[in-house]
Amino acid sequence: VLPAVYKPDLLYWEGALRRDLALAVGSDGKVLGQGAGKAVRLKGRALLPGLVNAHSHAFQRLLRGRTEYVTSGKADDTFWSWRERMYQVALSLAPEDAYVASRQAFVEMALAGITTVGEFHYLHHAPDGSPYPNPNQMALEVIRAARDVGLRIVLLRVGYARAGFSVPENPRQRRFIDKDAGAVLSAVSRLTEEVESDPMVTVGLAPHSVRAVPKSWLEAFSGHAGVVHMHVAEQPKEVEACVAEHGKRPVELLSDLGFLKPTFTAVHAVCIEPEEISLLGRGKVHVCACPTTERNLGDGVVPADRLAAAGARLCLGSDSQATIDLLKEAEALDGQLRLVRGRRAVLDPLQGEVDGLARRLFDCATRQGAESLGLKSGQLEVGAPADFFTVDLEHPLLAGLDERTLLPALLFGADARVVREAAVGGKLIVKGGVHEHAEASGREFSALARRVF
Ligand SMILES: [Zn+2]
Repeated sequence: VLPAVYKPDLLYWEGALRRDLALAVGSDGKVLGQGAGKAVRLKGRALLPGLVNAHSHAFQRLLRGRTEYVTSGKADDTFWSWRERMYQVALSLAPEDAYVASRQAFVEMALAGITTVGEFHYLHHAPDGSPYPNPNQMALEVIRAARDVGLRIVLLRVGYARAGFSVPENPRQRRFIDKDAGAVLSAVSRLTEEVESDPMVTVGLAPHSVRAVPKSWLEAFSGHAGVVHMHVAEQPKEVEACVAEHGKRPVELLSDLGFLKPTFTAVHAVCIEPEEISLLGRGKVHVCACPTTERNLGDGVVPADRLAAAGARLCLGSDSQATIDLLKEAEALDGQLRLVRGRRAVLDPLQGEVDGLARRLFDCATRQGAESLGLKSGQLEVGAPADFFTVDLEHPLLAGLDERTLLPALLFGADARVVREAAVGGKLIVKGGVHEHAEASGREFSALARRVF
């Protein structure tokens, strides 16, 4: 990375957009502070900290456009029929295909201003369930895709044991399943060693859900030193099964087992009761909402207002890749709550500021996502990685705005179309709205999609 000073019209610095500032980036790819000297002028641009996508299943990009209907005779079972379709795709991907599918999702993320992805990765083994010669081969293909695109990645290595409590084995889950909790933990530590020299890649542990992991596995995972992500209470059925198995609801079980601390992220947390909200808040855990996916799957609405009031920290993910646009996720986090609560600007911090709500939602899409992934990215401050994106202030979607109104307009009125540059660790990966691998990626992805379906 060449040291540089970037001089946009507006810079997001210390929590707000400001004029007449320049961002200095050192040769180590980190923010040096306010720049002096010859600057790279980014005329007509606002420069903001890179968006952090805290929950992604990259390969599910293949499902886009292919599940927006109801299988005949399955009108009462739409989530679980979506899942069967997803399994069909999951079963068809060779390691090279996982690379091609992931790269396409990651290119789209970069073009949307996302600079970090938390990839919740559960496709581990060959389709018959036998491990690859390197048991982490699939994870390494996903990591290779992120590297080629230039994204920072946290590979959240999933542990998956079973179809569910008293549920017969599902042969379509064989690729996900490890033989015991020890096998999961050793895959995590081996993978951590394999990527150790790369500052752009880190590894976390991800017990899939209380449905897919029994108590003995959870006990083995609860002391894990790094970040832990887990699907929690996405659908009523998994909550019922948890009560039947453990006599407790999912969050209560996780609390008893010692999971609820700031290194833990509960993904979804839709079907939760007030006591569970208190527990999540008291543990200062992160809750990753994926509003466009939760809407697409009919999961429900994350009670983000009550969670935040209790002390939980909120972040966002593109999850199923139904759409890849963290600006839209941020909008939907509040937008869906408005429909439920019957009022406007539900998450507004109530300080009477025109950009107060937008700044709070943007914080969820950046800093809090990074924290949930155990990273220092997500904000531009001295010593932080220079991960950022720019938007085109001359784009028709953004006409007529100033430093106070740009952010609300960006979240509530615009979308990823206004993104022009993206940089990770000071390296520009999107320039003028173009990613150098977009064309090749699209071509190979289209060929893969034709083969899979
Ligand atoms: Zn998920």
